[in-house]
Amino acid sequence: MSAPRPAAVPETARLTPLVGRVLGLNPGLMTGPGTNTYLVGARRPILLDTGAGVAGYIRLLMSFLGSEGLEDVSRVILTHRHVDHIGGVPDVRRAFPRVPVAKLVKNDASLPVSMESLADGAVIRGDGVTLHAIYTPGHASDHLCYYLEEERALFTGDLILGGSTTVIPPDDGDLADYLDSLRRVLQLDVQRIYPAHGPVLEPARPVIEGYIAHRLERDAQILQAVSAGAETVADIVARVYREVSPALHPVARLSVLSHLHKLEREGRVVRLAGDPPRFRAA
Ligand SMILES: [Zn+2]
Repeated sequence: MSAPRPAAVPETARLTPLVGRVLGLNPGLMTGPGTNTYLVGARRPILLDTGAGVAGYIRLLMSFLGSEGLEDVSRVILTHRHVDHIGGVPDVRRAFPRVPVAKLVKNDASLPVSMESLADGAVIRGDGVTLHAIYTPGHASDHLCYYLEEERALFTGDLILGGSTTVIPPDDGDLADYLDSLRRVLQLDVQRIYPAHGPVLEPARPVIEGYIAHRLERDAQILQAVSAGAETVADIVARVYREVSPALHPVARLSVLSHLHKLEREGRVVRLAGDPPRFRAA
């Protein structure tokens, strides 16, 4: 399922003297206008995320570099392993054969190219820029945000999105980790957010606080729905996500599951046997 990219979002943009943005050309229900890939730094910028590997992305990247008088890409860093972020790595490697590629390598069954692993706190220096890797699991267990010292800005990957809510996939995501990660980035001196999807968000603090508040509100609503007798995930979605388009209900089911896992671990709901599983308040 996909939606046309709004005409208002240009394919490439110079956002600040240190940050440019090239869209991954993969618009869709889950990706909004598509994945934002960022060029961070002056003449030889760092490429942060690579999109999904869509034909045309490399041409767009190259034309942006050319129009900006940038020489090439000095290195590639990734926020996490989801395909709309790392899918473009092989194409980028073909365009820049020796470019180093790095992410937090953790629970990765396979990666498209061999990568250096970045640990929490790793410092990545580019041309006029200093990035700090911030471990922020929850959406994915390998998720890093990158803090750009020179702008007091945070590249949030899929931790925080412009204009939509992050999905917590039940396999590799964890809502409690996700909330901890939001609280962690709230402690940083962040003025501006560069999300992996959607527009730049500024000021940052109310956005992060809003994300935390939204999750806690959902947590309370889901617990209330279970207490009121909603037993299955589908029952809970029907009650809690009434205002949300049915097209998004499959995503809402994932979100409800992530809340139920958290509530179960906290001893606030009990999972009953059966298929589909049923829940009741503890
Ligand atoms: Zn993701």
